[in-house]
Order: sequence, then C-alpha cells, then structure tokens
Amino acid sequence: MMVDSKIINIISNRNYESRKTAEILSHKLVSNGYKPTLKYDPKAELNICIGGDGAFLRAIHRNAFPDIPFVGINTGHLGFFQELKPKEIDTFIRRYMANDYNTDTLFLVDAKVCTRTKCFYLTGINEIAIKGIKSKVVHLDVLIDNNHLEKYSGDGLIISTPAGSTAYNFSAGGSIVYPSIAMLQITPLAPISSSAYRSLLNSIIVPGESVISIKPEYRYENSILVLNDGMEFRYDDITQIDLTMSDKKIYKLSFNKESYWNNLKTKFL
Ligand code: NAP
Ligand code: MN
Repeated sequence: MMVDSKIINIISNRNYESRKTAEILSHKLVSNGYKPTLKYDPKAELNICIGGDGAFLRAIHRNAFPDIPFVGINTGHLGFFQELKPKEIDTFIRRYMANDYNTDTLFLVDAKVCTRTKCFYLTGINEIAIKGIKSKVVHLDVLIDNNHLEKYSGDGLIISTPAGSTAYNFSAGGSIVYPSIAMLQITPLAPISSSAYRSLLNSIIVPGESVISIKPEYRYENSILVLNDGMEFRYDDITQIDLTMSDKKIYKLSFNKESYWNNLKTKFL
C-alpha cells in the first residue's frame, strides 16, 4: 500500500535535538509541497523517524508494523538504522523528490508463545530473546523443523534477524549478517558446557523458512521471560515457543548502495 499522498508522518523523540530537527524538517517539507504531520496518518507515503535506533524500533512497534516506508534521522547515540544526519535534510528532500533512492527490506522475526491455555503472537525487528526471570539458569529443548538439536542450559537464547545481528546478537558473540539474507540466527547467552550440561557455544544460522521451537524444561516453565526488541513479556506456564521469519516486512529508504559497509565501519570500528 504505497500512496503518493504527499502526507509525511514525522515520528520524533521528545528530546531537544529531535524536536528541533522535526521543526526544521517540517518547514522544509511544507515549502516543497508536502503535508508533514506529527499525528500518525496511515495514508502517508513516508514515515520519517527522528531519534536513535530505539526511536526507530518504537516507531515500528507503536504503529503496528506499517507498509509505509521509513527513513531515519539520527539524533541518538548509535543510530545504526538511521540513514541520515540532521545536516542532510536538504539533500534528502531533493533525492526523495527525484526518486533517487533504494528501498531496502527488513526481515522480521515472529514468535508464537504457547502456554497451557492460550497462544500469544509477537513480532520483533532486532530479536526475540528467551531468558530466565530472576537471572535463573534456563534449560530449554531446541528443535529446528522438529529435529531435536540440543538441550540448552545457560542465561538464554537470542533469535536475531539479519538487521538485528549488529544489536544484542553482536554483543553476545553472534555474527554480523548482511540484511538482505533471509535467515534467523540463534545465539546462546552464557551457555553452560560442562559434564553436567552440554550446550552449543556458538551461534547457528538457520534458513528463513525454518521453524525454531523452544520448549522450556518442565520445572522451569514458570520462569521464562520473553524479550521482544528489549521489551519484557512474561507468560505463565509456557509449553512451547515457535520462532519463524515473519511474512511481514518493513521497508526502509537508503541513499547509497555502499552505505551498509560504510555504516558498519564507522559505527563499530
Ligand atoms: P538501548 O539500550 O539504547 O540499546 C542498546 C544499543 O543498541 C543502543 O546503542 C542502540 O542504538 C543499539 N541498537 C539498537 N538496535 C541496533 C541494531 N539493529 N544494530 C546496532 N545497534 C543497535 O535500547 P533501545 O535503543 O531501545 O534498543 C533495543 C535493543 O537493544 C534491543 O533490540 C537489543 O538488540 C539491544 N540490547 C542490547 C544489549 C547488549 O548489547 N548487551 C542488551 C539488551 C538489549 P541507539 O543508541 O541509536 O538507540
Ligand atoms: Mn537507544
């Protein structure tokens, strides 16, 4: 659903620099014939998110994973998702009007969390992580396409998307994955490997069409925490969590074919 409505949603953080940037952007959009709005309009042709990666993640969650493409202006700390700097607004508007950009697709992760009574559905942009409440060790059976892989013991598992590979996954020793590769990465958090418990120590990359099933061991099933892009969810009596690459996608404008590698180098080295 891409509409040339001239309406542009501005989704901004509340801090001074973001608000200032939103104001400047809004004026410049108006003078170029656009209708910027701070009140989210589902008929808009573009979402401009001002803030850091956290603001980008929140903008997507709060607006229910819209089909409207996003572009980000970074006023945050890292801003890995945020393509532009506040200084680049003029160039951005010129190139946007000239259709001089690419649209990148972000793959997402879905989780179906089933308890004894009900199933709940979550979608994540960076990752969905399974951990123990109260920092307890968790014991989880991990299956890939119904094949039992391991009984994992440790702090938990991160199921990361390609775009999320540079976030929590990266800090936990997972690999950086180019965002256009359809896959999910399972990365262990402080896995225990002893004669008592044996867990894989490295991450596993599974194809985009696989189903990763996680079954908490019975006595711990009451103590599982699900983290969706850093937000905590608790459910009673989880029996199984199935994780898959989502059918839903997020679209993001980019202005330079080499910008992924350049961004990676400047933001991580
Ligand atoms: P936050 O505490 O500000 O996030 C931690 C850092 O991760 C921030 O510097 C953030 O960038 C950056 N970040 C977020 N998504 C990224 C991505 N895809 N690639 C590279 N860096 C990324 O909280 P938040 O801003 O709400 O972000 C939530 C995310 O934090 C979660 O999805 C999870 O991946 C990450 N996290 C990381 C750790 C860890 O590394 N040990 C622990 C918990 C959560 P900005 O400064 O631009 O916001
Ligand atoms: Mn943040």
